[in-house]
Amino acid sequence: MRVAKGFMQKIAIIEDNPDNRLLAEAILQDFYAISQYASGREAFADFNENKPHLILLDISLPEMDGLQVLQKIRTENNWKKIPVIALTAHAMTGDRQKFLAAGFNDYVSKPILDDTVLLAVVAQWILRDEL
Ligand code: MN
Repeated sequence: MRVAKGFMQKIAIIEDNPDNRLLAEAILQDFYAISQYASGREAFADFNENKPHLILLDISLPEMDGLQVLQKIRTENNWKKIPVIALTAHAMTGDRQKFLAAGFNDYVSKPILDDTVLLAVVAQWILRDEL
């Protein structure tokens, strides 16, 4: 069921793999307004006009990797409070402390096999207020 009108929170997906972007969008689009970006640079170019309430951030990205993108977000006054969830390859998820210490709010492992895991993490962290 799509939320038809009124205030819909915005989620930015920064992920260079189009299949992964589309999968995340398919899971979330009935509940949130989704913007997709293939790189941090693309996202930063849009964030001043289209600031998200939550960011899903791939770790392995061209140009700037996910940790560098996160550092940039955390050093910008206008962006630093946005919750950022790491999208990590399954093999990396053992490093929970590493991701949290780096400043991520949480992480979701890829491939996303269970819609409810992603929906629950997003619901836990997403900013409630209009920006
Ligand atoms: Mn990637």
